[in-house]
Amino acid sequence: MSGITCKFGGTSLADAACVRQVESIIKSKAERRFVVPSAPGKRNPQDKKITDLLLAWHNLAREGLDASQVSGIIRERFTELASALGVNFNIQAELDCIESQAALYEEPDFMASRGEYLNGRLISELLNATFVDPAECIKFDAEGALDPVTYELLAKRLEGPGLFVVPGFYGAQPDGRVKTFSRGGSDVTGSIVARASNSDLYENWTDVSGFLMADPRIVSNPKRIAEVTYAELRELSYMGANVLHDEAIFPVRDKGIPINIRNT
Ligand code: ASP
Repeated sequence: MSGITCKFGGTSLADAACVRQVESIIKSKAERRFVVPSAPGKRNPQDKKITDLLLAWHNLAREGLDASQVSGIIRERFTELASALGVNFNIQAELDCIESQAALYEEPDFMASRGEYLNGRLISELLNATFVDPAECIKFDAEGALDPVTYELLAKRLEGPGLFVVPGFYGAQPDGRVKTFSRGGSDVTGSIVARASNSDLYENWTDVSGFLMADPRIVSNPKRIAEVTYAELRELSYMGANVLHDEAIFPVRDKGIPINIRNT
């Protein structure tokens, strides 16, 4: 396999217009075959991220409290998204299924992962792509570390022609229960998919134009860093540069796959 893995962040997938833009980015280059979406993010500064809403839903459901307001907002956003994209996908049935499991697990991981899952389903319909559920091939060991068997399992699922969509942010524990990476973890999924698919490039599509030399909220007009080593990138991410999850560097670094930060 070869090609390009492209991960799209939540603000790049916040509504149907953003998703259409992402569709045109993917279709503009035949090499872009492995697509890793985040959950829909904020459409404006006052808006809520789907993942935050799902976590709120989980907490209320676990406490036996009324979660209808938060679940209603989530339903509305996904229903709107599905109809605006005109995809042939039973979003109501999926949402009902999530609702029936909202109070099932003590840990928030399953609920937190549903934003990526649903977005992945919608986007794979839109692109006519093969949907790959990470719960079946991104595996954690009993200590919560990534199990290297992941690369074999995922490589098998990514064989064959066409486009593949692998939702970001989650995988499964040895007993099959869903487990997420830490927040912002779709970047890590992107890196794992790039390595498993033996991609030539890992494109990380976000809402910033690359790495800046200083925090733009503090220093006005900082210069862009054209190229950094994996070690420098890891250091910057670890120290708080909010562009890439610090754990996203290892899987691609081991194979020397370059990461390209792009602005949708
Ligand atoms: N949706 C998850 C989060 O908000 C993961 C991600 O976007 O990378 O943290």
